[in-house]
Amino acid sequence: MIKKKIEDAFNKQIQAEIYSAHIYLAMSAYFEDKNLSGFANWMRVQYSEEIAHAMKFYNHVVERGGRVELLAIAKPPATWKSPLDAFKAAYSHEVKVTGMIHNLVDLAKKEKDHASMGMLQWFVDEQIEEEDSTDTIVQKLKMVGNSSQGLLMIDRELSARKAEPEENGGG
Ligand code: MG
Repeated sequence: MIKKKIEDAFNKQIQAEIYSAHIYLAMSAYFEDKNLSGFANWMRVQYSEEIAHAMKFYNHVVERGGRVELLAIAKPPATWKSPLDAFKAAYSHEVKVTGMIHNLVDLAKKEKDHASMGMLQWFVDEQIEEEDSTDTIVQKLKMVGNSSQGLLMIDRELSARKAEPEENGGG
């Protein structure tokens, strides 16, 4: 049985992961509007990853005999100043999420919830990747500056990202 404190915190994290999904889907729509289909694809895959993150918490709460309660999701921003601005926002969002995951680890330790600690370690590792992948794209966008040719090169590169099977809501 999962403790009420952990259940509440995980329900809030489900909300945070779905909000992340909404931000990235909004970014995908922004890139579609700019005809940057590679960037839009990358963001669409990111969206499905975030839904999979939410489902990992969802499944954990259910498996531990807890009660999932979905909370309200805020409206994400609709537009950004530039692709660089969008990816900077994605990076700082991921830094914020890392902080949330670390707080959950602290709470699980305090509550001696070893089962949750194991599950949360996956997220600790995942956040290293999330920060790294968004920051790498920020750095590339800075490198190309105002060059449309450079931007289209990155767009082509990002068009190759594919959803992993476990990113489709399983896992
Ligand atoms: Mg996430």
